[in-house]
Amino acid sequence: MQTLEANRMNSVKPDNQEVIPSQVQTILHLFDTTYLTLQQIAEVSGTSYKVVWNRVAKYRTKEQRDSRKKVNYARSKLGVLNPMWGKRFEKHHSYKGECSDGYGYTTVVTPEWYNKKSRRVFTHHVRYCEHHGLDRVPPGMVVHHIDHNRSNNDPSNLVMMTASEHTRLHCAERCRD
Ligand SMILES: [Zn+2]
Repeated sequence: MQTLEANRMNSVKPDNQEVIPSQVQTILHLFDTTYLTLQQIAEVSGTSYKVVWNRVAKYRTKEQRDSRKKVNYARSKLGVLNPMWGKRFEKHHSYKGECSDGYGYTTVVTPEWYNKKSRRVFTHHVRYCEHHGLDRVPPGMVVHHIDHNRSNNDPSNLVMMTASEHTRLHCAERCRD
């Protein structure tokens, strides 16, 4: 009987994809505040599409996922008019350099000195670290655009804070407006 029970327990698929909490924070932050595709979120948070998909399914409601899908669908329609539409990251002419997600954030191929395994990183992370002599944005920290312009990556426009401080700041600014 004991072995039967043990077998049953073993047949339950373990969630063996270890994801550190700061990665989950990053994934959810990007899901909530950008229209990056799940694949792009995976690339900049240094994890796989599957992990991103799983975390989003776990921590965001169906309504939240559906409303985001609708916006992304509308954007992809707009995208048909763009000559670069349909070209994947690698085929994009500016692949080596800056590549916009279409919603303001840009990414670059991870510089050699940057201490992260992902293929691409946010431009504002690289600029911030260059300026402040860091080798990466520490896990759990967020780099905020002071003027809310995501393409203004001048170091004077960037400030680093914890993810929870960042959420609080954005909530406060929303309520004030
Ligand atoms: Zn922000």
